[in-house]
Amino acid sequence: MADRHEMWKSLGMNIEQHDVLCSVLPGAVGDVFMSQKNRPKGMEFWDMVVADVHGIRPAELIEEQKKGRKVFGTFCVYVPDEVIIACNGIVTGLCGGSQFWVPDGEAVLPKNTCPLIKASVGARLGKTCPFFRIADMYVGETTCDGKKKAYEILGEDVPMYVMDVPQMKRPEDIERWAHEIALFAKKVEEFTGVKLTVENLKKAIHIINEKRKAMQRVYDTRKNKTLPISGRDSLLMTQISFFDDPERCATMCNKLADELEERVKNNVSVVDAGTKRILVTGTPLAIPNWKLHNIIETTGAAVVCEEMCTGTRYFENLVDENINSLEEGFKALANRYMKTNCACFTPNTGRIDDIKRMVKEYNVDGVIDCNLKFCCLYDTEKFSVGRALKEANIPVLQLETDYTDTDAEQLRTRIGAFVEMLNK
Ligand code: SF4
Ligand code: SF4
Repeated sequence: MADRHEMWKSLGMNIEQHDVLCSVLPGAVGDVFMSQKNRPKGMEFWDMVVADVHGIRPAELIEEQKKGRKVFGTFCVYVPDEVIIACNGIVTGLCGGSQFWVPDGEAVLPKNTCPLIKASVGARLGKTCPFFRIADMYVGETTCDGKKKAYEILGEDVPMYVMDVPQMKRPEDIERWAHEIALFAKKVEEFTGVKLTVENLKKAIHIINEKRKAMQRVYDTRKNKTLPISGRDSLLMTQISFFDDPERCATMCNKLADELEERVKNNVSVVDAGTKRILVTGTPLAIPNWKLHNIIETTGAAVVCEEMCTGTRYFENLVDENINSLEEGFKALANRYMKTNCACFTPNTGRIDDIKRMVKEYNVDGVIDCNLKFCCLYDTEKFSVGRALKEANIPVLQLETDYTDTDAEQLRTRIGAFVEMLNK
């Protein structure tokens, strides 16, 4: 693996601290991923990326910046990548998924903020994440209160643009979101110096739709009784898709899907017949947060679907490509993005419908609804999700966790009991 220290130094990173992070990652990857048996060959690509996660893609982004392209860092699946891509920009996800970054976040945020926000702010302030150093502009959104206020801190020394996401999904809200996308497009045009046209927007919509279709293909293979890929590997693929070039992402996911479809035909499963199938739902699992999947899959069950932003919410629903004006393009984008069901909306019954639909589609035996500590939105929604699933006779286990390992044994005990109950 190439030595990236010069690059990290040039980004003004805290090298000493960052070396500490780099020293623990290989062990974690080995424990979670390499210990699995019979993995698809296609995972080699994601193994390579994760082995050099702060090297390969950052180096590419820096090369693109030298050619004059701008990098936009985002934190939420409501930000329309299509607008950025159309203006020759690059999108990279910035959500932090490691406890390593939390203390630096806690230095400025209340302790009772969700770990995803604390890690994201800590990664920036502690200068220990190259993506935060590289991004020319951060794009925030008014989804939850914690993020909204954190963006004020994050935006102190980086250009920050915040999109005003509606809280409801009435026709007038969807119209307002289309207008908000139009305002964002103006900002992106100004920042990149590239004019948005129907042609480049159409092309960008197509690129992102193809990425969504490819990811869906991988997920579709998980619907089979023969399970050709583990939840851990699928999650890794999804987490990295937030950082990767969208066209390469589509190519690699399609390649993987080809192999998985072949595995299904040949009855090649990564688990024994009868292994209980789990759908996980809740708050996002930003890289390198593999704790939940790892515990579930080393407790005798298999994760077959994630109803999460690091899962189906990221790629379900396509944008209509049949647009003849920018106005139609903004409306098409607004219609698609408003189909995503996050707990920041009220009401959010669409999420419950999604979970129930996916339980059938993915042949699920039980649901684990797991939320990050101090996420008030998803924590509150737990009540209606739990009630709806019980009414539908779908076994559900509801959990709360953070990025530390202190609750790992407790989670293992509760998940183990849940799986045992499903086995009975
Ligand atoms: S959970 Fe909600 S706020 Fe968080 S990334 Fe998903 S859509 Fe955005
Ligand atoms: S997990 Fe909840 S509190 Fe944390 S960023 Fe997402 S919506 Fe906000």
